[in-house]
Amino acid sequence: MGETSRDSFDEERNSRPELRKVIEELFAANGLNYCLECGKCSALCPMLEFYGEYSYERSPRGVVEQLIIDPEGTETEALWYCLACHECTRYCPSGVTFQNFIIGLREDLVERGYRKHARFCDVCGSYLMPAKEFEYLRKRPDSKLDDGLLATCLRCKREHYRKVVHRSARWPKEGGAKGNEPVSQS
Ligand code: SF4
Ligand code: SF4
Repeated sequence: MGETSRDSFDEERNSRPELRKVIEELFAANGLNYCLECGKCSALCPMLEFYGEYSYERSPRGVVEQLIIDPEGTETEALWYCLACHECTRYCPSGVTFQNFIIGLREDLVERGYRKHARFCDVCGSYLMPAKEFEYLRKRPDSKLDDGLLATCLRCKREHYRKVVHRSARWPKEGGAKGNEPVSQS
């Protein structure tokens, strides 16, 4: 699947609810208006360990501040660093669910045709994860993840697993036992 042009991103953006409105709704749904600016989220965020780089603008507070100042400024790479690991949400005294906010915002942007910092399934083209996170997972030295499977979405992975198990001796041959479950090896 080729790169979607800037023009088509703008076209899609214009045919959807105003981005500013979507961001406001995501703010409200995830308690971002109740942030106490205590800084706990930035202090414990593991982006530094994962990427070897961290900046305030990529932190939950940094991202939120940028979007308050410029709700249309979603081209920024800073939106694509969060690992959605849930740590900031777990310790936030105000119950802010930043990871749900950023996941929702990314999904909305992808539906608008945004592709620049996102990684898509090699098989069906659906959105997988931020490109930065994909690169991290692919390159980590202790990774046991198969590159081909890493680059496919959950639905395509399941289809792959289904094909593998159907080829295996454990799956009943034509006319054998019926049902949804593989036959046990016992
Ligand atoms: S931990 Fe919660 S309340 Fe504190 S700065 Fe982060 S989002 Fe705001
Ligand atoms: S969910 Fe994102 S912002 Fe929150 S701690 Fe994890 S990486 Fe950091």
